[in-house]
Amino acid sequence: MAAPRTRFSPSPTGYFHIGGARTALFNWLYARHYQGTFILRIEDTDMERSQKLYEDDILASLQWLGLDWDEGPYRQSQRLDTYEFYARELFNRGAAYYCDCPPEVLEQQRQEALAKKEKPRYNGRCRERRLASGPDRALRFRCPRQGVTHWHDLTKGPIAFDNAELDDLVLVRADGVPTYNFAVVVDDITMNISHVIRGDDHVPNTPRQILIYEALGATLPQFAHIPMILGPDRAKLSKRHGAPSVMDYKKMGYLPDAMVNFLARLGWSHGDQEIFSREELIRFFTLEHVGKAASIFDTEKLSWLNGHYLRETPAGKLAPLLREFLAQIGIQTEVSERLLKIVRTLQPRAHTLADMAEQARFYFQSPRPYEEKAAAKFLTPAIKPVLQTISQRLAQLPAWTETEINALFQEVQKDSDRKMKEIAQAVRLALTGRTASPGLYEIMEILGPEEVQRRLQTAMEACR
Ligand code: GLU
Repeated sequence: MAAPRTRFSPSPTGYFHIGGARTALFNWLYARHYQGTFILRIEDTDMERSQKLYEDDILASLQWLGLDWDEGPYRQSQRLDTYEFYARELFNRGAAYYCDCPPEVLEQQRQEALAKKEKPRYNGRCRERRLASGPDRALRFRCPRQGVTHWHDLTKGPIAFDNAELDDLVLVRADGVPTYNFAVVVDDITMNISHVIRGDDHVPNTPRQILIYEALGATLPQFAHIPMILGPDRAKLSKRHGAPSVMDYKKMGYLPDAMVNFLARLGWSHGDQEIFSREELIRFFTLEHVGKAASIFDTEKLSWLNGHYLRETPAGKLAPLLREFLAQIGIQTEVSERLLKIVRTLQPRAHTLADMAEQARFYFQSPRPYEEKAAAKFLTPAIKPVLQTISQRLAQLPAWTETEINALFQEVQKDSDRKMKEIAQAVRLALTGRTASPGLYEIMEILGPEEVQRRLQTAMEACR
């Protein structure tokens, strides 16, 4: 097979969402798997709804996800001459005709059809009028009235539409702007796209597009329509199911590798494997294993995957990211050996970077107030002398290391009438304000002797 050329062609009419990212990923993976070319094309012919802000968001999201493109970004708004050329071509071939039906009349017909619960379609008034081009005239496709348009979809199998079901769609509006179905075909032909991989909400557009290819005598690409992503309630994924845009996930502290792994599994599988490196995704990805059924967006799985990638990523790479999340909760710090140690203690416990920053708070700020119930249970008069002993012995510790601290605790416990759990929980509360935290001795090593002493003093005062 010749190296494929795939494209991702978003419309910049809203923030970049999960569905778009998944389509981009599948196109990217397909191109990378077969050493093809991945093209980025911005479909911005809808001038009213397209915004630069959204285009920037799309590009930033793709970059964040690491989905690099080989060509583009092309912009449809800069290709109007090309569409004009192909529009003339279709007209000259008799495959398109001009239409001067006033928009109000068309709208009225549409409303009447809807009121009768019929599919709105153009009545063909201008089809045989042989109008020349002119102001206020749209160009329409002369859709065959008979026959069937069919294709073999690479994910859905054979699909067929009766041509009688399709109407004479507008190719170029009266204001000269090409419509989606026309521009996309011209682009896919001129950019030599071999595989059109997109959401299955586009299935009804495909027969219209195929008829335009045929009218132009162009070779068809292969089509692969990938199933929808649904929310956990099985409704079409939308804002109410969680974060609306890809960049929101970055802001919440998800890692791009986790996101890519998660997106890949929305509709594609490789046995029962869940965790894939990028190299594995590229190696294993083919369209044969894209399922037919809709996939369910499961935030718990995303969180689980993110936890995995947080554990696997080297601390040196996470520290600068964590630093930004700490700044957001008012903690300014440098990327230092200390921050790296902090990261290592939290890697096994955090699900997002935001979560990690919150869990790191006690390393930078004294824990006040303590968890209330736990304080009543563990910071008691009976534990106070034990804390006192710990404090005194710590002051004489030869070396401030995890091992030394550990040994000291074993001794103190032996000499006391308290269980290790009671002692540890009291000290943990003293140092972190909580009953769950990374290992006590590693925390103490990082906090350092002065800070540990200060916090023990405060906790002793709270024992009652
Ligand atoms: N611009 C279209 C969209 O955002 C995609 C068109 C296509 O992939 O053919 O849905």
